[in-house]
Amino acid sequence: MPLWQKANPTTALNMNQELSLHNSLSRQKEVFKPLKPGFVGMYVCGPTVYSDVHLGNCRTFVSFDIIYRYLLHLGYTVRYVRNITDVGHLLDDGEDRMSKGARANQLEPMEVAQKYTNGFHDMMRIFNTLSPSIEPRATGHIPEQIEMVQAILDNGYAYESNGSVYFDTLKFAQEKGIYGDLSGRKIEELIAESRDNLKNQDEKRHPADFAIWMKAAPEHLMHWNSPWSVGFPGWHLECSAMSRKYLGEHFDIHGGGNDLKFPHHENEIAQNVGSCNCAGAGYWLHTNMLLMNGRKMSKSDGNTISPEELFTGDSVHVSKGYSPMAVRFFMLQSHYRSTLDLTDEGLLAAEKGYKRLLEGFHVLLDLTGATGQATDALDQEINQLIDGAFAEMNDDFNTPKALARLFELVSRINSLKGGQLPLTAVSPATLERLQTTFRVFIFDILGLLDEDAAGASGNNQALEGVMQLVLDMRQTARANKDWGTSDKIRDALNAAGIVVKDGKEGVSWGLA
Ligand code: AMP
Ligand code: ZN
Repeated sequence: MPLWQKANPTTALNMNQELSLHNSLSRQKEVFKPLKPGFVGMYVCGPTVYSDVHLGNCRTFVSFDIIYRYLLHLGYTVRYVRNITDVGHLLDDGEDRMSKGARANQLEPMEVAQKYTNGFHDMMRIFNTLSPSIEPRATGHIPEQIEMVQAILDNGYAYESNGSVYFDTLKFAQEKGIYGDLSGRKIEELIAESRDNLKNQDEKRHPADFAIWMKAAPEHLMHWNSPWSVGFPGWHLECSAMSRKYLGEHFDIHGGGNDLKFPHHENEIAQNVGSCNCAGAGYWLHTNMLLMNGRKMSKSDGNTISPEELFTGDSVHVSKGYSPMAVRFFMLQSHYRSTLDLTDEGLLAAEKGYKRLLEGFHVLLDLTGATGQATDALDQEINQLIDGAFAEMNDDFNTPKALARLFELVSRINSLKGGQLPLTAVSPATLERLQTTFRVFIFDILGLLDEDAAGASGNNQALEGVMQLVLDMRQTARANKDWGTSDKIRDALNAAGIVVKDGKEGVSWGLA
């Protein structure tokens, strides 16, 4: 698709159905009612940019891309805010992730943040996700965060201790009675297991208290002046401050992976209520985790695969490389609230499914000669399947079930083409609706690209993105004189029919 072409023409085909979504706060499905009719404000926690984005992150962001796309499709004007966490997210030893990454590599913290933000954007493009409306950085919103800390202090739900400011969780929980509503945690349990900022435990009144402003240690690279100390804001605080700034004190949807429910989101709610007595989002949406071969993906025990390894096939966990759209399709085949287990068999099946869906679409575009009536049984059946696909999306964005309806339609399409079903029993209006539905579903709602068509027109943005990433990896390997890795990448590309040339103007590539 040319860059100037609008990526997401919103063709509202089924506005008469209600959208229901699962609200983590009430733990049940609710009919979605935006605060302002026709408008949706949605905040999604973005990545912490101190290392490469992993496939689990990608799953969560692809899930919210579907939600964003579907809201657009329904005709809503959506302000989608997804932040970049570039300060304040601490490691278990209490050190800031960005600062540690920067010191280890002798880089400016902002260099680290920029590098991994670029990588994140590349990956989002490769997976064909739409850009958010606003992508605020935590470091760009320090005054707003300081203001919020002050408001919480003024309301009596925080206290200063040795230059740091802590949220008074116990007092808040006792007075407001809502702490733990989202995560289901009880304050007594929290006392036992609070992990937040272990290093400064003695500064807190209570183990469940958490830092909203931290005094910076001398070696800490990122710090700002504040009324309490030269320091930096807490991770939870940044999302409260940025969501309020761009979406207001009360907004529609807040999302993230379900590992963020506690403490991150629970503490966001506490900060919102503690600063302005406003809860923030009305609907909380949480995606489930990506597993691999039935186990949690984990770098430490080798049960992990990077997106690049998945695309090139350079991993013991896969028998071959999979294209970004096959991987995206694989993600769509499970509901966002279910765990998703990455296996080679699952990916192979997804690759076949993706091809079958697109082939069905091409066959459908060639169908002509529909002369039936709206009263014909086949005509009605096709319309019911179309309605069913939208109904599944309206039922908490159920992509696997919507895909099942689309595949039932692919069977009908193939039978119409083969003559086993008569086109004389399908009305021209229904054939046209079917064609529109497939186009809208595949490209606008599910956000798939036709990789074959894109390749043929020389405009395969996803492949361009992957190649950029792989060539960057090769460049880094060469700069480190890691010839083994550099050769391995070249050989894998050659095997995939791609030739890399090192010329005066830089590296170029082409199909063999
Ligand atoms: P982080 O960069 O760690 O702050 O994570 C960015 C987003 O990815 C958050 O919404 C996380 O909940 C989500 N996430 C992290 N790990 C996984 C996983 N294995 N599967 C799905 N989502 C994940
Ligand atoms: Zn957040």
